[in-house]
Amino acid sequence: MARGDYVLAYYAKGYHYVARVIATFHESTLATNIWGANEDTGNTWEYMYFLTKPVKIDAPAYWIAELLGLNESSLLYQGFSRIAGRNREAILNTCGSVQDFVNLLLDYEDGGVPRELHITGRTPIAADLEELEETKRTKTEVYRILRDTLLARTLKEMYQNQCQICGESLHLFDGTAYSEAHHIKPLGKPHNGPDTAANILVLCPNHHVLCDYGAIRLDSDELHVHPHHSIGEQFVNYHNEAILNDQ
Ligand SMILES: [Zn+2]
Repeated sequence: MARGDYVLAYYAKGYHYVARVIATFHESTLATNIWGANEDTGNTWEYMYFLTKPVKIDAPAYWIAELLGLNESSLLYQGFSRIAGRNREAILNTCGSVQDFVNLLLDYEDGGVPRELHITGRTPIAADLEELEETKRTKTEVYRILRDTLLARTLKEMYQNQCQICGESLHLFDGTAYSEAHHIKPLGKPHNGPDTAANILVLCPNHHVLCDYGAIRLDSDELHVHPHHSIGEQFVNYHNEAILNDQ
């Protein structure tokens, strides 16, 4: 699977959710650190797929079969399967494109990709890597950088690149949205902040600089915070006590 591909959740004789692939990773060390490994086989979930928030649909298999002119038995997907061969051909012949097929499932008639399935642009990551350039790159550091970049990217996607302070999102020439990940308690010496979600804010470049230079005070109650993200109060306090330059 690749970024932009559609993913359909099939169970109880029908399609029930549709989502798109945001990113894919093949990284067994990261997977083992997150989920562990099977004690007997040593296997882990090393192929990772990040999806847009699944959109609920209700498309029974008999309805799809009728639409595509297929037997219902040819739509009984199990496990992780790719829609290929005759089924794929039937989709293209009947609907014209995968997008039109998905839009039919969503009952979406405006053409193009529905808003809830938009993938925010590939966020440039140079700013994050530069930040990490300062940390010592030992062997284990490679995994920290990978994890941190993944984490930062995941958070940026979560916020759709909107600044947690002002709510603004920058758009580049090609429409790509841009934001930066700020470590509230900075990584590296002398602060030694952790690279965890609780220590990261997604910010516009202006607010990133203002935070880096301690030009503004942080107030947890004023931040835009996603329900799946919680900011560590200890890091906010650290910013206000050790970083803030209010003289
Ligand atoms: Zn901002």
